[in-house]
Amino acid sequence: MRLKDKVAVITGAASGIGRETALLFSAEGAKLILADLNEKEGLLVRKEIHEAGGEAEFIRIDVSNAQDCLEMIELAETKFGGLHILFNNAGIMHSCDDNAENTEEAIFDLTLAVNVKGVFFGCKYGIPAIRKSGGGSIINTASFVALLGAATAQIAYTASKGAVLSMTRELAAIHARENIRVNALCPGPLRTELLMKFLDSEEKKQRRLVHIPMGRFGEAAEMAKAALYLASEDASFVTGSSFMVDGGITSAYVTPE
Ligand code: NAD
Repeated sequence: MRLKDKVAVITGAASGIGRETALLFSAEGAKLILADLNEKEGLLVRKEIHEAGGEAEFIRIDVSNAQDCLEMIELAETKFGGLHILFNNAGIMHSCDDNAENTEEAIFDLTLAVNVKGVFFGCKYGIPAIRKSGGGSIINTASFVALLGAATAQIAYTASKGAVLSMTRELAAIHARENIRVNALCPGPLRTELLMKFLDSEEKKQRRLVHIPMGRFGEAAEMAKAALYLASEDASFVTGSSFMVDGGITSAYVTPE
């Protein structure tokens, strides 16, 4: 087991990447705090983990709320006695997020509040807890759009993920000598709820697929395996990285037919 006796907090744990990562981390021996806005689905993930013999607690939080994030970290400490792994993964892509001209200020603010402040608050309260536990690993979910301009306009989302990458680099440098590693996981386009609700026709899916050398969408379970690597001792010399798990999209100029 690669995470035996480790305590992990996962935000956005009710769905997609967060859910798959919770199931995998639990199978690898971690004790989990599952945090999400969606209580119904979050409790189902907890149930699934309990039925498989794992240990997990759910807390309903809004990652853009500082007090909620503090309570999430405190729960890890009171319930499981510390914190070693923090996966700041919750994020939104708003349906009204568009180009600079058409995007309302409120949509921009909301997207940055969840995607950027959520990571900041997780780190603000999580770092002291990880330090007290002797060190550990923080993983922040960014996106391939932090590196490439998205042809389908989503200015707030793209800005937010760029901020996650730059915060990650600074956090990694500042905390490297405290045995705290900080990396950004950069998924390519995935077959999860977040993206598929926008790519709701075969034509829209195909338009995106032409850019991915592997010719398919990624799976949340594939991101979970990457998160496991970054969380575990296998990545003991890896910090400050923008870890691309994207089917080659950021490496390709033209994709094969
Ligand atoms: P998802 O929609 O399946 O899961 C996101 C989860 O975050 C949901 O359970 C949702 O309830 C939760 N959430 C949303 N706002 C929250 C808030 N304010 N507080 C607490 N929880 C909140 O999406 P996913 O694809 O698993 O996305 C996870 C992360 O991966 C996000 O940061 C997303 O931006 C990023 N990402 C996704 C893709 C993709 O193609 N799906 C690509 C690159 C990056």
